[in-house]
Amino acid sequence: MSSGREAIVADAREFDVVVVGAGPAGEVCAGRLAENDLSVALVESELVGGECSFYACMPSKALLRPAQALAEARRVPGAAEAASGELDVSAALKRRDEVINDLDDDAHLPWLAERSITLIRGHALVSGERTVQVGDQLLSARRAVVLAPGSAASIPPIPGLREAEPWTNREATTAAAIPASLLVLGGGVVGVEMAQAYASLGARVTIVEALGRLIAGEEEFASEQVRESLLELGVEVVLGVKASAVRRDHGEGVHGPVTLELQDGRSFTADELLAAVGRRPRTDALGLESLGLPAGETVAVDSTMRVPGHQWLYVVGDANGRVLLTHMGKYQARLAAAHILGRDGADTLLRSDGHLSPRVIFTEPQIAAVGHTLASAREAGLNVRAVDKPVGANAGGSFVGHEAPGDVRFVVDEDRRVLVGATFTGVEVAESLHAATIAVIGEVPLERLWHAVPCFPTRSEVWLRLLEAYGL
Ligand SMILES: Cc1cc2nc3c(=O)[nH]c(=O)nc-3n(C[C@H](O)[C@H](O)[C@H](O)COP(=O)(O)OP(=O)(O)OC[C@H]3O[C@@H](n4cnc5c(N)ncnc54)[C@H](O)[C@@H]3O)c2cc1C
Repeated sequence: MSSGREAIVADAREFDVVVVGAGPAGEVCAGRLAENDLSVALVESELVGGECSFYACMPSKALLRPAQALAEARRVPGAAEAASGELDVSAALKRRDEVINDLDDDAHLPWLAERSITLIRGHALVSGERTVQVGDQLLSARRAVVLAPGSAASIPPIPGLREAEPWTNREATTAAAIPASLLVLGGGVVGVEMAQAYASLGARVTIVEALGRLIAGEEEFASEQVRESLLELGVEVVLGVKASAVRRDHGEGVHGPVTLELQDGRSFTADELLAAVGRRPRTDALGLESLGLPAGETVAVDSTMRVPGHQWLYVVGDANGRVLLTHMGKYQARLAAAHILGRDGADTLLRSDGHLSPRVIFTEPQIAAVGHTLASAREAGLNVRAVDKPVGANAGGSFVGHEAPGDVRFVVDEDRRVLVGATFTGVEVAESLHAATIAVIGEVPLERLWHAVPCFPTRSEVWLRLLEAYGL
């Protein structure tokens, strides 16, 4: 006689793998598995494409880009004379809406269909080993369950903050209009990008950061250049002081101004307040308790993205807390898929992780970095030397135009004579980062880098100046 539980599982829809969450990490994992002939169910409770496509990476860049494109034109004599008009805010918002497809995920569906991935709409709960419940459907996974539920904005316990109905990244990236004034709580990546976007679109912005500098994990010169550019845009930058309370004037049907009080007695008032003070994993309503795992916390995984003690369970993307970036979630997804497919080669080993991952802050100047900063390398006990050069002081830089400053720092491991970190600041330096990523991850000896000849006239010739400055 079978137990009730076995009877339910017998009725389950069976797949090789069930993936929960169709953000970038979940989509890529499902895609890799399906392309290798596994049957895959992908469960999504909101929009296929996840936070990244609709409320994070894509709309934030769409909001930043118009002012940056205009500034680019204005730096180049000849183009500058033609770019004399004002930014068209409503056209910029319309373009943002186009980028997020008016919050419709239709455009993502053909990609799934081409791979024969079964999309199941609804909220997934892990209900036991290899089983996932979605509404009244029970899904069973022959090989593995992959969780990719992502993260949401965290709201810290500052008195009055939650009641003041702060904006999170969702409201900031989808707002139908630009408020006259905006307070940004948090000077990390989301905070500085949104402060710059909203200031460039006409809002009076104040950004408040508890630490002594913005984007504190990056090189100090990068923090300083971002601070200066925000000041130039008219943003008030408040550093080194914590928020103590928040209140909003609510009346009958009135969504009044919001006031942020600081521990040093100052207070600032604006139409809206954006909470940009970190993320929380969306693991609170996933049924993890049924596996003895704590709910609402990041789920620790090993270097194959598998949860120790649960051979069939993988967690990829923001929810494992290793590094909260789309490209890194997708990298983890590729590793998990390779492991589930039984592969065991160099391409399946975790080589890039945590705060050393490649990263770009899409402000102007952009900050593009990989590996260590000088400080983090020293903290890690490495014997390092920094080599610094201006990024645009060469023939290639002259075409970017006037007033396009920026710098590069290489952090060189003196014992092994390899790059262990690089930081670029400046206009459109994001696209320069990948060469440095290859040098750092590939541990390419400096002597060999000398033979990687940058084209003329490109800003990449700065690599030669850096190697010369190091002594080659
Ligand atoms: C404003 C902002 C800008 C950013 N810009 C960048 C950038 O430029 N570059 C970059 O690399 N990173 C950026 N990030 C970070 C990036 O958005 C995240 O790292 C990325 O979205 C994480 O991908 P994910 O697949 O882990 O999760 P998500 O994108 O959060 O997707 C998770 C999906 O899972 C679904 N889900 C959750 N729980 C369940 C459940 N129980 N059942 C079914 N479905 C569920 C959710 O609805 C969601 O669709 C930014 C973040 C923010 C906030």
